[in-house]
Amino acid sequence: MKAVYLMQPGTVEIRDIPTPKPAFGEVLIRIKAALTCGTDLKAFLRGHPMIPMPGLFGHEFSGVVEEAGKGVIRFRPGDEVMSVHTAPCRKCRSCAIGEYNLCENIMQTKILGAFAEYIVIPKHIVQQNLFHKAPQLAFEEAAFLEPLACVVHGMKGLHMKKGDSVLIIGTGPIGLLHLLLAKLKGTRVMITGLERDRLETARRLGADDVTLPSLLVENIETATSGLGFDYVFECTGQVEVWENAVNYVRPGGTVILFGGCKQGTVVTYDTYRIHYNEITLKGIFHFTPADVKESYKLLGDGLINVKPLISGNYPLEKIREPFERLSRGEGVKYAITP
Ligand SMILES: [Zn+2]
Ligand SMILES: [Zn+2]
Repeated sequence: MKAVYLMQPGTVEIRDIPTPKPAFGEVLIRIKAALTCGTDLKAFLRGHPMIPMPGLFGHEFSGVVEEAGKGVIRFRPGDEVMSVHTAPCRKCRSCAIGEYNLCENIMQTKILGAFAEYIVIPKHIVQQNLFHKAPQLAFEEAAFLEPLACVVHGMKGLHMKKGDSVLIIGTGPIGLLHLLLAKLKGTRVMITGLERDRLETARRLGADDVTLPSLLVENIETATSGLGFDYVFECTGQVEVWENAVNYVRPGGTVILFGGCKQGTVVTYDTYRIHYNEITLKGIFHFTPADVKESYKLLGDGLINVKPLISGNYPLEKIREPFERLSRGEGVKYAITP
């Protein structure tokens, strides 16, 4: 089969490798659509600690079951499926207390290689996070299961309700998925980002206000009478944005720090602001099987429309092109169809 290898930052290679065989409990998927993701872009541009090189690449996908290993009952060849690339071990200390997103083994047992013709889903993922695709959902849309699960996870437990005010910083795929979900909850959303095209997309997706970062402070004054937002979602992974985010939230409000910065990055906050204004700062990582189920339902029931986030379609052979476009700030996400 053909598979994309990320050799080193900026260098990809399409290799012909043996198509894997599914072992006991595993399922072999013929990939129909894979999506580019912010993490993939980071790896492509400068490497990523979670993506070893040289190595297989891509982790958001959907497809058709080609072969089911022995012991698999729920899936058979020809089934249209969608999946995520991780599942918790259910044995470690974090799993024991139900914090499955923080599973100590979740990153070591993940799968990469969605930019390929086939991928094997290991048993622990088959059991927890592989689903039958709803027939009306396109494969490209079904591949949103993973990124949407991350966003579902970040909003869980926030008690967001109709009429709440929300600021989303960042108009990448994650920022825009936050927008879709925040609008579904009936909130009023302002979104800010550098790319005018993406702000336009945000507007089409239902943002109440869009603003360039240079006008943000001024626009916050107007939109919230100077009080600040109920919720601020940081979706850029930029250290200055992490620091500034606390200035945009109202007293008693919550800042969600979603975008990952480099390890060792340090931020500073005014303790007075955090303490006397009782600001909640919340870090977000990954998702639990319950979040994946919720994401599956949102997509399958057509509650959110992710289609406008797909900016184009490329065959495996052209894998460089979408990443080059993304690095120039063009488009949101691209679908790769082998
Ligand atoms: Zn992703
Ligand atoms: Zn675990």
